Amino acid sequence: MYQAPSISRTSISFSVGLWPRGKMLGGSSSINYMLYIRGNKKDYDDWRDVYGCDGWGYDDVLPYFIKSEDNQNPYLAGTKYHGKSGTIRRGSRCSTSKAFLRPVRDRPNLHISMNSQVIKIMIDPDTKTVTGVQFEKNGRMYFGEETKEVVISAGAVASPQILMLSGVGPKDHLEEKGIPLILDKLKVGENLHDHVGLIGMIFLIDKPYSQISASRIMNLPVLLNYTLFGRSAMSTLGGVEGVAFVKSKLGTDTGDYPDIQMHFGSGSIRYAHGTTDDVWNKYYKPILDHLPVLLRPKSRGNIRLASNDPYDKPLINPNYFSDDGDYDIKVTVKSVKFSLALSKMEAFQKMGSRLYDMPYPGCEDKPLWTDEYWACWIKSSSFTLAHTVGTC
Ligand SMILES: Cc1cc2nc3c(=O)[nH]c(=O)nc-3n(C[C@H](O)[C@H](O)[C@H](O)COP(=O)(O)OP(=O)(O)OC[C@H]3O[C@@H](n4cnc5c(N)ncnc54)[C@H](O)[C@@H]3O)c2cc1C
Repeated sequence: MYQAPSISRTSISFSVGLWPRGKMLGGSSSINYMLYIRGNKKDYDDWRDVYGCDGWGYDDVLPYFIKSEDNQNPYLAGTKYHGKSGTIRRGSRCSTSKAFLRPVRDRPNLHISMNSQVIKIMIDPDTKTVTGVQFEKNGRMYFGEETKEVVISAGAVASPQILMLSGVGPKDHLEEKGIPLILDKLKVGENLHDHVGLIGMIFLIDKPYSQISASRIMNLPVLLNYTLFGRSAMSTLGGVEGVAFVKSKLGTDTGDYPDIQMHFGSGSIRYAHGTTDDVWNKYYKPILDHLPVLLRPKSRGNIRLASNDPYDKPLINPNYFSDDGDYDIKVTVKSVKFSLALSKMEAFQKMGSRLYDMPYPGCEDKPLWTDEYWACWIKSSSFTLAHTVGTC
């Protein structure tokens, strides 16, 4: 778990910016929310056609999506988009470690070093070629010699950190941290983008409909149903009970290309996101949530080293809502208005859905329910969905 220091606090409501990252086999896939959602077809096709990533078009990746699934819905499983014998099944966690490492763990050419911290990649300063990896395990330092190639896959936060500790990164920054420069790579640590979500699109309903409550989950029939048949509320993914994709009027792409993702659910954000006691007590304590997420942010943040100590947490600066033209905030305001309209529809009205109209702490001075108010509220209550990418 990383804690972003004050320069990179994600919003004013959170005492610290918590950036959870799984530090274990399977990484963050071992702790994530388990929403298994494919990207849009155009995303993959753009990777291939616009960015030149051969082999990453939708038709290229589709067979792997199909291979992963054990889809129990007979209608869906019979289509060309879904599969039936993969490892993702029964609403249970399937980390990348469980899916891909466990089946091959006995191969003689695979060695996994547990409880090991990579200190740096060893690079010959003259030839600029990688010679190995330095890592620490149980208090001892090891130097693994490279025989073919080294692949860094430490995630979007730690990968640039390791590169910079190894002398690959922006010259001025490495000099400032006392790290001998090997390759001046200005872009290492830059280009951070993330899905930024709103905690606070809150609607009150007339009674508890949610599946996610201790009394509905922690009882014998539910436990047995899950253990024997893989069914019941225990197979719900995290606290999210519904997901929708929306294309706002600001979306410029033609076709089926949404720019907002809605999550519907219940759950506590108090500890997961480090809400301050003050904001928690004034605002969140009694409620339930719609969670709109900006899908294609234009703002870019960065990762920097706090020091040359590999055990020091890096500085994470997400820079949310900092883009020229304010596209990100405008789309997010649209997502708020969409949520409001949605809550007025018959299905939600049946539950007595109504906006929780408590002015957000810190935005009370803005005219309520105007774009100015929503923008203040969005900037105050947004948080990372931990979908950080793009930093190497
Ligand atoms: C709380 C949370 C909820 C999420 N929910 C969802 C979701 O519902 N659906 C979804 O699709 N995505 C979700 N995500 C995002 C998804 O899990 C990540 O995008 C994905 O796991 C990133 O994979 P990665 O391999 O890039 O990095 P990671 O999964 O972070 O893996 C990095 C690995 O590198 C290791 N590592 C890092 N530094 C070092 C070092 N110095 N030495 C040795 N090892 C090191 C770590 O221990 C880890 O094993 C969520 C993420 C989080 C944190």
